[in-house]
Amino acid sequence: MKYISTRGTAPTLSFEEAMLTGLARDGGLYLPETIPTLSPDEIAAFEGLPYEEVAFRVMRPYVGDAFTDEEFRGIIARAYDGFAVASRAPLKQLAPGHFLLELFHGPTLAFKDFAMQLIGQLFEFSLKRSGKRVCIVGATSGDTGSAAIEAFRGLEAVDVFILYPHGRVSEVQRRQMSTPSEDNVHALAVDGHFDDCQARVKDMFNDFEFRDAVGLAGVNSINWARVLAQVVYYFTSAVSLGAPHRKVSFTVPTGNFGDIFAGYIAKRMGLPIERLVVATNQNDILHRCLESGEYKPDGVIPSISPSMDIQVSSNFERALFEAYGRDGAAVAQLMEELKSGGFSVSQGAREALRESYDSDRVSEDETRAEIARQQAESAELLCPHSAIGTAVADRQRQTGTPMITLATAHPAKFPDAVEAASGVRPPLPPHMSDLYERPERITRVGNDLGAIEALIRERTGN
Ligand SMILES: *Cc1c(COP(=O)(O)O)cnc(C)c1O
Repeated sequence: MKYISTRGTAPTLSFEEAMLTGLARDGGLYLPETIPTLSPDEIAAFEGLPYEEVAFRVMRPYVGDAFTDEEFRGIIARAYDGFAVASRAPLKQLAPGHFLLELFHGPTLAFKDFAMQLIGQLFEFSLKRSGKRVCIVGATSGDTGSAAIEAFRGLEAVDVFILYPHGRVSEVQRRQMSTPSEDNVHALAVDGHFDDCQARVKDMFNDFEFRDAVGLAGVNSINWARVLAQVVYYFTSAVSLGAPHRKVSFTVPTGNFGDIFAGYIAKRMGLPIERLVVATNQNDILHRCLESGEYKPDGVIPSISPSMDIQVSSNFERALFEAYGRDGAAVAQLMEELKSGGFSVSQGAREALRESYDSDRVSEDETRAEIARQQAESAELLCPHSAIGTAVADRQRQTGTPMITLATAHPAKFPDAVEAASGVRPPLPPHMSDLYERPERITRVGNDLGAIEALIRERTGN
């Protein structure tokens, strides 16, 4: 399996190379040259299998000859070993025809653990084999960073630097990043928004001298291996509701478009998904773009669902690449226009996007009301992101096809917002109950590329 860039000019890479690189050298994102398909019989055979075995069968065609079957099975087993529940991604019924896919039973209580724990094990395996060392740099609105630090803490061939917007992540998120004591872990509080953090990470990847000197590797949601890991739970959940004999729909709380794009890949692989619904908070650029074809960032308004507070949705580039019939030059042109304020999607590409995705947005008041309503009606305490999903799902549901809403984080990750909306303060699960007592370690930095690069060079001795 070969991987190509969404901007058409970076070298074609193997799975392992694309995984270790993250962002392509032409600024694009890697995608497999072809998307493998599974037959209805192969999908039907997933019924009753352990999560890890489905993960192996779904992801195997993408990794090529990077690992033997035995090696790959071992990597997957180690990745999901630390999850709190044996099913890994349990499905709960909220109401007739409406289901909640709980993706928050990993070590940092958000769905990002599914991808990050796998990436940690993939990196460890590959780097040990090659004797190389990498420096992982990532931007986070809260959940990616904690998941990355948890996945890489203490690994020998990796340093991990996480940039997060100072004062704009929840206390639980911050503590999950600042309390691991391993020397290879560095939490950097940047004076700026998430989009600033993400832009500085992109700048570092485009500074080839720095990139090569420190051995930069990316694990942000642009990393193909992360998207791939997320394809798996679309299969396990749909099959448990009767796929491939029955169609299902999904509603996905969306920010960087990684999770919903994984659903699109599952559909392309042959999973009978009727509708994929993008749910956004008040930072609704994706909803507006899918409605109007205009992609115009206009500043982030902080919300109670901070992991979706973004205006530059990095994985959306992959959806554009597909909508433009995999025309890398057209995507490169759009991304150039984005630098000067925004772009318009062509008529044809807009229709292709509308065919793949529905969308809706939820205000702050509606989010709070939905948390309270679900608590009252289904006895489920939802985090604000998941509540945005269930609110949209309820508006978009059609009778006949089950709707699965992805619950992206545990409510205890956002206790203040959940308590304010529902009157109930969600407790941390037992294995993290001492989080508030552990000492923190944070480095504050300006929103300045030179300063951040200097710090990373100093800490890694490059
Ligand atoms: C990251 C995140 C999202 C958004 O997911 P994307 O893949 O960026 O679209 C939604 N909810 C939570 C809790 C998250 O951490």
